[in-house]
Amino acid sequence: MGGRGGTQVLAREPLASAGMAPEPVPFIDGHNDVLLALHLAGDGAAPFLARRSEGHLDLERAREGGFAVGFFAVFVLPETEEERAATRIPDRKPPYAQPLAGPVPTKYALREAGAIIDLLDELAASGDVCVARSTADVESALAGGPLAAILHFEGAEPIEPGLENLAGFYERGLRSLGLVWSRPNAFADGVAFRFPSSSDIGAGLTDAGRHLVSECNGFGILLDLAHLNERGFWEVAALSEAPLVASHSNAHALSPNSRNLTDAQLDEIGHSGGIVGITYHAGMLTEVGGVDPDVPLARVIDHVDYVATRIGIDHVGFGSDFDGATVPTELGDASGLQRVAEALRNRGYAEGDVAKLAHGNWLRVLKQTWND
Ligand SMILES: [Zn+2]
Repeated sequence: MGGRGGTQVLAREPLASAGMAPEPVPFIDGHNDVLLALHLAGDGAAPFLARRSEGHLDLERAREGGFAVGFFAVFVLPETEEERAATRIPDRKPPYAQPLAGPVPTKYALREAGAIIDLLDELAASGDVCVARSTADVESALAGGPLAAILHFEGAEPIEPGLENLAGFYERGLRSLGLVWSRPNAFADGVAFRFPSSSDIGAGLTDAGRHLVSECNGFGILLDLAHLNERGFWEVAALSEAPLVASHSNAHALSPNSRNLTDAQLDEIGHSGGIVGITYHAGMLTEVGGVDPDVPLARVIDHVDYVATRIGIDHVGFGSDFDGATVPTELGDASGLQRVAEALRNRGYAEGDVAKLAHGNWLRVLKQTWND
């Protein structure tokens, strides 16, 4: 979820002519918001299983693009339309400094999360999607099995501050959790949307947040640092025993967005054996800021280059933010993912490295984190 901007999809030309293109490489993708889009549309899971006319992701387009595994976010919108409107930025022209969104009540968040997870179960009932509970499910999807959907909370609002219901969510499939979206909650402070800006805005973790980090380590639930502010980042880095993960964030050195990662943060993720999911979100790619859908796909590869050069190619993957952000028109939607692989090859990445970036590094981190 890149913020409450609109999404944009254009029809794309087919890939290179048959016989010329290399084997499609399957992707593990670090972040999407399609469950929220389905929840808001109110037609259940059916639009995903057919082909949606809007947004970036559905079963057909996933198969066309090689989107094999994805982190499917549960994101709880603000409760009232008035509060929702306040989180939307019409054009996000830099410089900007958006006030932090307000907190949402736990009871409401619980209800919303329940309804959104029901949608995921409805997807899985089709047999074409599975709720990934183990790395075996992920490996099966990479080998051509049902699309593996990893249940992720983008913000821990549905979790009671005493963590009484965490085990129940684990049972329902929760395997990845961001303590916060860009707002405060019982566990931590999210980072405000600003450009240009550092992420050193606001307070760190609460006692409940520290407790949640250690419980997630215990369950083997992946902790996602995207949307956390700088103090929170360093507290999790000090507390967590798992590899550090930022599921949809880019390099601050190339795009000084408050959501992007400084060199010191990148170094810390690398040292922990973790991964940065480079995001396609147009608002997090450029030096000058703003949300320009005409930003070339090569700019995404600039971020891959930067992070891989700094902390090693084993610590880079992708986190699309499909259905939660504006992605470059050159990519279009999930059906265009092989263009990312092609852009990597054009930049000189060997086939083995393309596979690491597309899925291998994510798979390694999942194996180390889930302990299954
Ligand atoms: Zn997000």
